[in-house]
Amino acid sequence: MSVSLPVTIDDIEAAARRISGRLLRTPFVASASLSKLCGVTVGLKLEHHQATGSFKLRGATNAVLSLSAEERARGVIAASTGNHGRALAHAAKAEGSLATICMSRLVPENKVSEIRRLGADVRIVGKSQDEAQEEVERLVAEKGLVMIPPFDHPAVVAGQGTLGLEIIDEMPDAGTVLIPVSGGGLGAGVAAAIKARKPTTRIIGLTMERGAAMKASFAAGKPVLVEERPSLADSLGGGIGLDNRVTFQMCHALLDDIVLLTEAEIAAGMRHAYRQEREIVEGAGAVGIAALLAGKIKNIDGPVAVILSGRNVDMDLHLRVMNGETDPFREEAA
Ligand SMILES: *Cc1c(COP(=O)(O)O)cnc(C)c1O
Repeated sequence: MSVSLPVTIDDIEAAARRISGRLLRTPFVASASLSKLCGVTVGLKLEHHQATGSFKLRGATNAVLSLSAEERARGVIAASTGNHGRALAHAAKAEGSLATICMSRLVPENKVSEIRRLGADVRIVGKSQDEAQEEVERLVAEKGLVMIPPFDHPAVVAGQGTLGLEIIDEMPDAGTVLIPVSGGGLGAGVAAAIKARKPTTRIIGLTMERGAAMKASFAAGKPVLVEERPSLADSLGGGIGLDNRVTFQMCHALLDDIVLLTEAEIAAGMRHAYRQEREIVEGAGAVGIAALLAGKIKNIDGPVAVILSGRNVDMDLHLRVMNGETDPFREEAA
């Protein structure tokens, strides 16, 4: 590659050595039903089996381990209601550090108690994610806590990239890899790992029609804001940050395409995961399967690897989707 990117294969291999033994090497299994449907071998990387229920533990663990002992002793901090918050709480605790996780008052009690259970100091402030982020910046300035953001950070991207190393090891001839994309930490890291080993592999990012920040930013040629709307793929919500430093450039250079999915397609992906593969996945984790079922990956180069990225879905919502609801977050016409 001609331009040098902020995270390289050497960084990802170093991350793999650093986190080795601390995380689960998740299973990689063939899907008989999807292989039959697509006419090529389809393998599923069951990363939703990772501790804390998502791949985010890879990036969080690598970031915490990359700190100096003195920084670890001061503690780490992030604003997150979701999988990054869980992962950072778990990673910090495992390394004898303390994570402070800031959230707004609107976050449901079950999410708060879950992150607290993982050992974090949870701070409830304000009425929006922006106010939670202001509290993070205040504590960084006042107490010297170290902020670990969910995606736009070289050590986080390198950690997520370790998933790409496992995939190309498990499927060395992969023709196509399907990756859920939001802020692009997973996409940047996995694509960097796979393209370093096999440059011809097509890497396709997937996200929901409702709020595709990375795709809109590609179109604009720079990071742009998109309106946040409720979706089954809630873990893919949020922007990429207007001052994005790492993931926009990397995803722009390394992803071959970004494909958008409707709520009904994501729901069908979750149902297929459950009924055919016996796997419970959240909406964000089902977008790869959804894209194959919907026929949205054209001229598929096999074999195909699909990342199932997380399983942290409200189980009542999951049951409703299994029973046939296609758009639980349907927006009422104004
Ligand atoms: C965070 C997350 C994603 C998207 O990862 P990015 O690095 O933000 O692109 C996908 N799936 C799940 C389950 C997640 O938690």
